[in-house]
Amino acid sequence: MQIERISLKTLTVSIVIVLGLVSVFLLFVTALFFRDAALKSQNQSLSRVMDVAAQEVVKQLHNQAFTLGSTFQNRTEFRVALEQFRQGNGSAALREVLDDPIAKGFVGAVTLDLVKLRLYDLDLKMIAQSDAGIQGLTPHLTPLLHDQAVGRSSAERLKALGGIWISPAGPLYSVLLPVGGLRLTGYIEVVVNPTFNLAVIAAMTRMPLTIYSASGKMLSQSENGMSGHGGKTLEVEYLLRADNGEDAYRLVGLADVAQLNLDMARSGIIGVLAFIALIGFSVLIGLWVFSYFLFLPLGNMQKEMERSALGDLSVTVGQKNTLKEFHALAAAFNTMARKVERNIHELQRLSSVDGLTGVNNRRQFDLSLQEEWLRAQRDNQELSLLMLDIDYFKQYNDAYGHLGGDDCLRMLSSLLRETVQRPGDVVARYGGEEFAILLPDTSKQGAQFLAFKIAAELAHLGLPHASSPLGGRVTLSIGCATCKANPECQPESLVRAADKALYKAKEMGRDRIVVHDIENIPVKIVEK
Ligand code: GH3
Ligand code: MG
Ligand code: MG
Repeated sequence: MQIERISLKTLTVSIVIVLGLVSVFLLFVTALFFRDAALKSQNQSLSRVMDVAAQEVVKQLHNQAFTLGSTFQNRTEFRVALEQFRQGNGSAALREVLDDPIAKGFVGAVTLDLVKLRLYDLDLKMIAQSDAGIQGLTPHLTPLLHDQAVGRSSAERLKALGGIWISPAGPLYSVLLPVGGLRLTGYIEVVVNPTFNLAVIAAMTRMPLTIYSASGKMLSQSENGMSGHGGKTLEVEYLLRADNGEDAYRLVGLADVAQLNLDMARSGIIGVLAFIALIGFSVLIGLWVFSYFLFLPLGNMQKEMERSALGDLSVTVGQKNTLKEFHALAAAFNTMARKVERNIHELQRLSSVDGLTGVNNRRQFDLSLQEEWLRAQRDNQELSLLMLDIDYFKQYNDAYGHLGGDDCLRMLSSLLRETVQRPGDVVARYGGEEFAILLPDTSKQGAQFLAFKIAAELAHLGLPHASSPLGGRVTLSIGCATCKANPECQPESLVRAADKALYKAKEMGRDRIVVHDIENIPVKIVEK
C-alpha cells in the first residue's frame, strides 16, 4: 500500500474504528469474566448455605438419636433383658430387645433411619448388638468415639458423644450415651444412617439435591430431580466430612440461576448499549474536534496552496482559527509566496528593461506596441512613433571609447525620459544607438512637437562630439510616423514608416526630423 494515497481523515477514522472494535471486544471479554465471577460467587455462597444446613441437620440428628437412646434404655424390657444378661443368661433376650426398635420402628424416632443398636460395658467392650439393621459392622466401637470416650473423668462419662464415621457399608452417625444414669453401668450406641436426614437439605435450601457417598455411589436424590441444566442451573457442591476428616458425603445441589442469568444479561445489554453510546458519542466529539481543528484548516490550506501553485501568488494561506503548527506552516508558506512574488516582479522588470540605459528594451517595446495598437484600434485613436538615431555614433565611440559611448547612451536616455512625460508614452532602446518612442493618442503635430522638443533639449544639453561634422555636438536624426489603427495599417507599417522617415533624415544629411505621412504622402520634410 502506498502511504501517500491515504488521507489523514481516512487514517483517523480507521484508527477510531479499530479502537472502537477493540473496546467492544474487551467489553465482551470483561462481561464474560464478570459472569464467571458472579457464578463463582453464587456457587460459594450457596455452598456455604448447604454447609450451614448440613450442620443443622447433623445437630438435629444427634439430638434425636440421643433422645432415642435415652428413651430406649428406660424401657422395662431392656432393663429386664440387661439384668438377665448380667446374671449370665446369655445375650439372646438382649439382642431381641435391641432388634425391636429397628424391626418395628420406634415411637418418637420417625425422622431417624435407625440401623443398629449396640451395648458396651464400662470398658467399652461390646456386650451385644442388634441382629437387625445394617450388617457387616466391625464388632467394636468406632475408633473415633472410642478415643474420645476413653480417659474421660467420671463426670464427663455421663455426657453423650457423637459423630459421623465411615463404615464398610457407607457413612453412619453414632451417638454413644451412658446407660444407668448416675449409676453408670455401660454405654449404648445408637447408629443411624444420616442419608435419610440429609435429604431434608433439599427443602431447606430449596434446591434439588443428590447425595453421593465418598466413593461416588448415589445414595439419594430429591424428588424434583436433577434435570434441566441448559445454562439455567448451577451445580453447587458441598463435601460433608466424617469426624476423622475423611470425606463422607458429596452433596450436589442445583441452584436456579435463570434469574441471575437474566439480571446479568440485562445489565450486560445495558452496559454494552451504554458503552457503545459512550464510544459513539466520543467518536462523534473526536471527529468533530479533528474536523474543526485539523481537516477543515488543512483542506482550506490545501485549496489555497493549490491556487497559489497555479500562479495566484496574491493568495494568503489561512492562518485564522488554526492550531499553532498550522499557523506556523501557513506563515512560512506565506513568507515564501511573498518572496516568490517579489522575485517574479523583479524578473519581469529585468526582462523588460534595458540593462545599460534603464529604459524599456526592445522586447518590451514590441509588447507595448501590440498593446497600444489594440487600444488605439478599440478607442479609434491615433498612434505616433518616433525613431531616433545618434548621428556619427561610430565616430563618437572611436573618439571617446566604448565606455564614453555608453555614458552618452545613458545621458540621452535620461533626457528622453525627462522630456517624454505622459504616463502612456513608452521610451525604448530599439537597438544599438537607436531609440523608439511610442506615443499613444498623439497626433502627427503632437509627435512632431515632441521630436522638436527632444532635438532642442539635446542641443541645449550640448554633449560634445568632437569628431562630428555637425557642429561638434551630439545630434539626432528623428523619423516620425502617425496613423489611425485599422486593419489596413498594422503596427509593422507604423514601424516601417518611422524607419523610413529616419532613413530619409540620414540621407538628407542627419540632425533633422522627417515626418512620414502614412496616408500616401510618402515623406514630408520638415526643416529645423
Ligand atoms: P549614422 O550617423 O549613419 O547613424 O552613423 P553611425 O556611426 O551612428 O551608425 P553605425 O550604424 O554606423 O554605427 C553605430 C554604432 O553604434 C556602432 C556601434 O559601435 C555603436 N554602438 C551600438 N551599440 C552600442 C553600445 O551599446 N555602446 C556603445 N558605446 N556603442 C554602441
Ligand atoms: Mg544606427
Ligand atoms: Mg547613428
